[in-house]
Amino acid sequence: MRKDRKKSARKDLTFYERSYGFRPRYRILVDGTFISHIVEREATLEDVFHQALGSNGFVVYTSYCAVDELRALEKKEALLLADKGGIRRLDCGHKGKPENAHDCLLSLFEHITNVEDPDLDAVRAAGASGQDLPNTRGLCVATQDFQLRAKLRNIPGVPIFYMNGDRLIFERPSVVSTEYAKVRDAIVPGERDDDEEEKKHPVRLQPHKKKAVGANPLAVRKRKTGHADGSALIEKRKRKRVGKRGKKAGNDSD
Ligand SMILES: [Zn+2]
Repeated sequence: MRKDRKKSARKDLTFYERSYGFRPRYRILVDGTFISHIVEREATLEDVFHQALGSNGFVVYTSYCAVDELRALEKKEALLLADKGGIRRLDCGHKGKPENAHDCLLSLFEHITNVEDPDLDAVRAAGASGQDLPNTRGLCVATQDFQLRAKLRNIPGVPIFYMNGDRLIFERPSVVSTEYAKVRDAIVPGERDDDEEEKKHPVRLQPHKKKAVGANPLAVRKRKTGHADGSALIEKRKRKRVGKRGKKAGNDSD
């Protein structure tokens, strides 16, 4: 059972790596609820995340607002962990003008779609128009706040952790995360637009195609970081084939 869970967590991590460009060392943003829970269970962040992420490495962050909240709630031990426990500060832009910690955390992802809106059309539109990846900071989030987790599931590409007693739970990728990746990978730049354009204006197909495939500064930037839609698709297909072959070979030799 435990082995299965570990295997599935590894698979989910691979999904985030392939579809959203996550790489070790993973950046994990913890909020006050998570820090407090760790303190209550007398656990350490090192132990907890090492179990889930293995030796790949991770860096733990929290925001200024989360620390302000712990201070306001007089959670002394949690504050101590936040200050001396090797947790880095992520500049949320609210230093000196603290926000509600819940809103602060969501604001780190706010430049994409409305997080209250689980409508996948918005996600599709974001993918189709070539916007940058939604979770541009490449942050994983660890929180005990279930309402916050529900909102984070509506943002594509946010790995979510929480504690169940002494055990760290790595949530399965949300429907929005998997759908967004599917839709984005399916849209090879220019391809889908041209198909639709061809039906309406066949004569204008050629110039449109050139324009769509041409140097889009966003696309160029994404390619550098390995997130370009086209290259991701090719990469994925290649890997898939290699994987199948490898598996087959493995079975034969057994
Ligand atoms: Zn903040």
